[in-house]
Amino acid sequence: MHADVVIVGGGLLGLSTARALRGRRDVLVLERDTVGNARSGSHGRTRIFRLGYADPRYVAMAQRAAERWRALEADAGVQLLDPTPQLTFGPGADAVFAALAAAGAPAERITAAAIKKRFPAFAGRGDAVLETASAVIAADRTLATLRTHAGAELRERVRVQRLDAHHVETTSEIIEARAVVVCAGPWTRSLVPRIATTTTLEHVGYVRARAGLPIFIDFAEPAVYGLPTPGSDLYKLAVHHGGPAIDPDREFVPDPDARAALHHAIERWLPGAELVEVDICPYDNTADEEFIVERIDGIVVGAGTSGHAFKFGPLLGEQLAQLVLDDR
Ligand SMILES: Cc1cc2nc3c(=O)[nH]c(=O)nc-3n(C[C@H](O)[C@H](O)[C@H](O)COP(=O)(O)OP(=O)(O)OC[C@H]3O[C@@H](n4cnc5c(N)ncnc54)[C@H](O)[C@@H]3O)c2cc1C
Repeated sequence: MHADVVIVGGGLLGLSTARALRGRRDVLVLERDTVGNARSGSHGRTRIFRLGYADPRYVAMAQRAAERWRALEADAGVQLLDPTPQLTFGPGADAVFAALAAAGAPAERITAAAIKKRFPAFAGRGDAVLETASAVIAADRTLATLRTHAGAELRERVRVQRLDAHHVETTSEIIEARAVVVCAGPWTRSLVPRIATTTTLEHVGYVRARAGLPIFIDFAEPAVYGLPTPGSDLYKLAVHHGGPAIDPDREFVPDPDARAALHHAIERWLPGAELVEVDICPYDNTADEEFIVERIDGIVVGAGTSGHAFKFGPLLGEQLAQLVLDDR
């Protein structure tokens, strides 16, 4: 069989790339499982969108991504980002504030007393930075929207075994392609061995909470973050990079230490909140948490998203599509 562009992996990056190529290339997306499957890094109800990074490059990228999210919402006629204020605590908050101010992004310092008045559940944690351009992304709705609006042929339950710049071998056939893109999350490394990614298994807790809570991030080590689930009384809380290193090809088994750290974080941030559900999800990590968006041995690779790429999805899709179109 022949194809114009084959994309391996139907997660956020694969589908965003397909959408960015819509109308410009015929795209075939091959997904080993189903879109949004429970082992993928993109599954689940929500993700945080924020401009706040200490590194000005990421603030600029998030600003550009915000425009792409608005375009995607307008194109699909669906709301994906639910504007939600965010509090940033901890040692990195000053650098985040400086980077936001330099970029002209809306942010203000908020005192502990003002936090107590506005968000009583977060009282007693000290001063913070308040970001107003943050949002809760409907992650599951995003995948469904990309799937519908990518204009690509999507084949689920097709596993790619090996590939090179112009051939993709599944369990049943070899597909010849003008361009091959790999966005297989933690499994990218088994198809493109030259990349040096590692996988950790992260644990996320959903607790019952009052409405009106903000997103929050505390940059103390280990970093902890939380976000409301729009339309429900569930609040999601997790330790960033709190899970163990794993082999992504093995069964995902919850880790007792990571669970204990999650319980501890919930007790610290939302004392007494009822834990309703624990979900597990892999991070596809690079050593410096920078993303891999490049051509390697002629193959376009999007990977190494290190637990913070959802907010950049439509932008990274465009960049990967550009690599396909540039053919360089
Ligand atoms: C718990 C958690 C919380 C997060 N929170 C945030 C957040 O708040 N904000 C933020 O910006 N980011 C966040 N992220 C990060 C973000 O969700 C990920 O960076 C992003 O979703 C990764 O997408 P992906 O397409 O690279 O990988 P994946 O979603 O893992 O997609 C890869 C796909 O490839 C398929 N595949 C694998 N191997 C093959 C094969 N051989 N053949 C065919 N298909 C294959 C898989 O089945 C999978 O569906 C979070 C991640 C996690 C896990």
